[in-house]
Amino acid sequence: EDKLDYVKSKIGEYPNFPKEGILFRDIFGALTDPKACVYLRDLLVQYIRQSQPEVEVIVGLDSRGFLFNLLLATELGVGCAPIRKKGKLAGEVVSVEYQLEYGSDTFELQRTAIQPGQKVVIVDDLLATGGSLLAASELVRKVGGVVLESLVVMELVGLDGRKKLDCKVHSLIKY
Ligand code: IMP
Repeated sequence: EDKLDYVKSKIGEYPNFPKEGILFRDIFGALTDPKACVYLRDLLVQYIRQSQPEVEVIVGLDSRGFLFNLLLATELGVGCAPIRKKGKLAGEVVSVEYQLEYGSDTFELQRTAIQPGQKVVIVDDLLATGGSLLAASELVRKVGGVVLESLVVMELVGLDGRKKLDCKVHSLIKY
């Protein structure tokens, strides 16, 4: 059985959510299936092992990126850190305002989450316009980290989000 085909078959599709005209791709449809969970983990871990063996920190985006950053970090034996919406992180933070598919928002990262020179992979569930991943890579660089690559489970290729990004991007599933 092909792991990727299996995971893909379990991803939910919700027309007109959260707004009229949007087809929402729902990762939780796959995560409620035990076999799809394991396959998804295997696919992500295997990809980073071969693509970025030198990674030192896995950064996850608020909030579905958190489903994967700790998972990947423990599998790979590296650290992980969260990028969160404004006002949620304690201590000194760096901030970036960004545009997203449904409005604008501010992301933050704790200054001590990444040491200068550390090699980072950023993870999220989905790449749409690229605004979120672009802001995330800016934040990582602001604290001195080196962005090796961004990794997402799904990519909406019609929105051309990867063109906006200045780092390598990989997606498991393309729509
Ligand atoms: P972007 O910044 O436009 O690339 O949007 C990506 C962000 O919006 C990610 O954090 C996604 O979780 C979220 N997002 C946008 N569209 C969808 C969707 O269809 N399903 C799930 N998340 C989405």
